[in-house]
Amino acid sequence: MSFLTSTTRRASRLASSRLISSRSASSRATFQWDDPLSSQTLLTEEEVSIQETAHAYCQDRLLPRVLDAYRTENYDRSILQEMGSLGLLGPTIKTHGCPGVSSVASGLITREVERIDSGYRSGMSVQSSLVMGPIDQFGSPAQKDRWLEKLGKGESVGCFGLTEPNHGSDPGSMETTARPHPTKKGYYSLSGSKTWITNSPIADILLVWAKLDGQIKGFVIERAACPPGTLETPALKNKTGLRASITGMIQLDNCPVPEENMLNVTGLKGPFSCLNSARFGIAFGVVGALEDCIERTRTYALERKQFQNNPLAKYQLVQKKLADASTDAAYGLLAAIQVGRVKDSEAGLAPEMISMIKRQNCDRALHHSRTLQEIFGGNAVSDEYHIGRHVANLFVTQTYEGQSDIHALILGRAITGLQAFF
Ligand SMILES: Cc1cc2nc3c(=O)[nH]c(=O)nc-3n(C[C@H](O)[C@H](O)[C@H](O)COP(=O)(O)OP(=O)(O)OC[C@H]3O[C@@H](n4cnc5c(N)ncnc54)[C@H](O)[C@@H]3O)c2cc1C
Repeated sequence: MSFLTSTTRRASRLASSRLISSRSASSRATFQWDDPLSSQTLLTEEEVSIQETAHAYCQDRLLPRVLDAYRTENYDRSILQEMGSLGLLGPTIKTHGCPGVSSVASGLITREVERIDSGYRSGMSVQSSLVMGPIDQFGSPAQKDRWLEKLGKGESVGCFGLTEPNHGSDPGSMETTARPHPTKKGYYSLSGSKTWITNSPIADILLVWAKLDGQIKGFVIERAACPPGTLETPALKNKTGLRASITGMIQLDNCPVPEENMLNVTGLKGPFSCLNSARFGIAFGVVGALEDCIERTRTYALERKQFQNNPLAKYQLVQKKLADASTDAAYGLLAAIQVGRVKDSEAGLAPEMISMIKRQNCDRALHHSRTLQEIFGGNAVSDEYHIGRHVANLFVTQTYEGQSDIHALILGRAITGLQAFF
């Protein structure tokens, strides 16, 4: 049993899903700069316990590694095993050893991981939301039995191949194809190219979206079963952001994939439904990155003195930057918690809600991290201060899984009823 599973059960026994409301009068009355709108009061005891587990792991095990990983662009795949042993992978899945926690709890995990680095969160999100998620949602019982447990333990690494060199924002135009294999009975043959794929160079299991008779289908490719020359996954090196994660291509040349490895979903609904979960995780995650920027900037501004020995934090312009960032982080967190609650409700959510929080939280986190960076002066250029890393990462979070302007078009379409994509 994973640590998270046991903690979760303990917390469940204690509180089930009772909200934490027994705070002292004084703590209610005092403004907490690191939780301005008392988001903690909206969490169950179980969620707080999960958040604490994730926070301790990230601070103790990920933070000491991140600078070296970022400098050398080296992703240590044992991180996924560590996360798996704590039950942090596929956390909302209820079977195959996964803890089955709430969507808000899963968001709190991404927030803690991204407080360290968006690249670490990306590697985890791909595994949880974009590989385990669709297998759980669209897989047969046999497919789930075959892949979910190993992925949940981090023993297998997964990747999600949707984007192609010529088709990013418009995946419906993808060129990767599947057709009945010309010589192997019971197999499809996949050909095409995917690019900017997180985890692809180290993935054991590659979930690739391809067109079969013009219809988009999901195929689970097992690297170990691919004949030489049919699957290549070269790394894309020298990135300017997300350097603590590994990114590559997927090149398929008549790659044989057994028919039983095809998921039971047709059309863009397949990739988009799991992207919704991943985007929800990003909306929570970038709040963690922004909160780390705020905390580091506050500490720096209180220590650094300029003009008459005053700390930078005493100056109005500096305080305004902190106030603006803190306000948007707090609003963003409350919005993400609300969408998480709706996601788990019987009514379910409209995908546009995810577009709204993904876009807003990414845009605000990128804007404010960049503004707070100014407070570090020349020191901002040193990676030891961490803020420049967050800024570079947050550009990517604004771009992938639907660039912000694309989410604006999704929202605009829902508001007006008019399509503005083409
Ligand atoms: C580090 C990293 C990791 C990634 N990981 C993965 C992964 O694991 N799996 C995966 O499948 N993909 C992944 N991606 C790809 C990512 O999802 C795409 O980069 C993203 O969808 C944007 O596609 P694009 O780069 O082709 O940009 P384009 O689609 O070419 O868009 C370029 C610009 O044009 C704008 N634009 C496009 N169309 C319109 C329009 N109709 N109206 C107005 N503006 C428009 C966009 O908003 C954007 O600003 C990753 C990317 C990066 C950088």
